Amino acid sequence: MDVSSKDYVSLAERLLNARSVVAMTGAGVSNESGVPTFRGLDGLWNKYRPEELATPGAFRRNPELVLEWYNWRRDLIKAVKPNPGHYALAELETLLEDFTLITQNVDNLHYDAGSRNIIEVHGNISKEKCFMCDQFVQEEDIIRKKGDLPRHNCPAKGLIRPGVVWFGEQLPPGAIEQSSAVSEKADVFLSIGTSSKVYPAAGFVMDSKTNGGYCVEINPVPTDQAGIMDLILQGPSGEILPKIVEAVKAL
Ligand code: NAD
Repeated sequence: MDVSSKDYVSLAERLLNARSVVAMTGAGVSNESGVPTFRGLDGLWNKYRPEELATPGAFRRNPELVLEWYNWRRDLIKAVKPNPGHYALAELETLLEDFTLITQNVDNLHYDAGSRNIIEVHGNISKEKCFMCDQFVQEEDIIRKKGDLPRHNCPAKGLIRPGVVWFGEQLPPGAIEQSSAVSEKADVFLSIGTSSKVYPAAGFVMDSKTNGGYCVEINPVPTDQAGIMDLILQGPSGEILPKIVEAVKAL
């Protein structure tokens, strides 16, 4: 499909006429940068399901294993760069009147690409917090002793864990309210690179839909939410999003 095609032109018109636009991204957007998605997990860790590693119960049972997995993911993320999909979203923010990016990703690549109006609903892997008191911690608050895992310098001396939201945990304070509020007023909602299986994030598109928003899915594989979409652009986000930007700039 080329940029002059009907779908891209009419979507670009809708974006430019919208009072407010929301894009929600999932792991698929970072796939082309080399960050594996959860549901396409490959290599070293494919004998574990993310639900067996990214939960408070898993950390309680085997903190070493969970921290090893996160250290592997951190190293992997440190080595990658934003792809054309991330850059296109950053550019869209500058081209449109009111644009909010809700991301389930924890990898910082949207910031690295230049997006600024971001709601990180699942935290950020570069941050750390205490498993007991749930406070975000700085290096000077961490006790590191040989033969023990890093602990927080708080009365409970909790283990240090990644600053991400695990399965079964609450989203950061205000994240649901803020995301629902922007989704409800969005005239266009772009759902990009997410399997739409992880709630409450997967519900934000419905906040838009039920308030008359035009909903678009961008994914190489149609998801369970394809049926409620007004438009499906099937393909990798690193190819589709730059075409949307080009179509907007052409108008
Ligand atoms: P998911 O793994 O459940 O689904 C990924 C989706 O991306 C799939 O629908 C797949 O078809 C699609 N996809 C694959 N390649 C794509 C591409 N090139 N362009 C567009 N789409 C593509 O991911 P999810 O829905 O984000 O939910 C999983 C949870 O895992 C989230 O909570 C997220 O925080 C976390 N996660 C984050 C990262 C990251 O920060 N990069 C990576 C893996 C998982």
